[in-house]
Amino acid sequence: MLKLNPYRFSATELQKMLWLKELFENNGFCIERFPEVYYDTYDNITKVFKLKNVGNHVFDEIHEFYEPEYLGFYIPEYSKINCKDDCNNKIVNEGVIVLFEDRIRNTAISISSQLAIGVQTAEDSLRYLVLCHELGHWLTHWPLDSDGLRWDCGYYFDDVTGKADKITHEALAQIITYWCADGRPLEEKIFREYLTPINPNSEYYKYLALIGISKSEVLNRLKLVRSSMGCDALLNDESAYELLKAADFVSEIQEWAKTQSIRKLDLRLDRLKALDRKTVDRFILYRFGKKIEYDYILCMLAKEGFLANKRTHEILKFDSRFCITK
Ligand SMILES: [Zn+2]
Ligand SMILES: [Zn+2]
Repeated sequence: MLKLNPYRFSATELQKMLWLKELFENNGFCIERFPEVYYDTYDNITKVFKLKNVGNHVFDEIHEFYEPEYLGFYIPEYSKINCKDDCNNKIVNEGVIVLFEDRIRNTAISISSQLAIGVQTAEDSLRYLVLCHELGHWLTHWPLDSDGLRWDCGYYFDDVTGKADKITHEALAQIITYWCADGRPLEEKIFREYLTPINPNSEYYKYLALIGISKSEVLNRLKLVRSSMGCDALLNDESAYELLKAADFVSEIQEWAKTQSIRKLDLRLDRLKALDRKTVDRFILYRFGKKIEYDYILCMLAKEGFLANKRTHEILKFDSRFCITK
């Protein structure tokens, strides 16, 4: 059987990987080890891993130049094991990262002539970025979070529609790559000019909307998205991305309640701001999770004591500690 060459990390890459480990761990994730990484030709890799046919899913997309997946791949293991919560989804296990040596080399050659830099320099920078992008997928998928959860249910494919949740996954992998490029001028340039398509509809472009959000906030939202795209499928690809890029949740919730909710609720901003993270997370989920009517959820929260005004409760059937009735 054909054996792929294992990849040997450079000191720079190792350093950045430890930086990523620390960043994720500071935000409640647990990283005990990194995934396997292989570095071989596209032909050899596709012989070993049938990239066109993973689990029950067929990748019908051909990756283009300017997309990180043209140069490498995170290949999760699509198992036949049912989710332990009996939700009909199959568990997706930890995968491996592959880097396409020949494609990285050839792309680096054209970058080196365009930027007038050495081929080796271009190649090292490009490979670094592709590695960071694929590590981004792995980090999003596998490390346990503070609730002891990973994205093993509902990872990457929507099991009901069979559609890949590409916007969410590529936005996350790209924003993690952006963090790794940040402060390294050549990597910043190559990432922006060669791994970010110009087309705003491209999934690989959408991370740009996440740049202004702090790393901690992105990672908090990642936890929420992970736990809401599996068993209960509260979020879909589009709404998960909306959630990831929302500017300020509390104001967003207030605005939505005022203008979009059926009862045009006027929520008190100061009270909303005093809510704990877990409660805010629930509001956020119900706000972005299109399957549930948000007013109904406000009523449910009221029942659980999150909202507590008797008078409004009579009118709206929920307690409105956070509502101003006019
Ligand atoms: Zn990707
Ligand atoms: Zn499940």
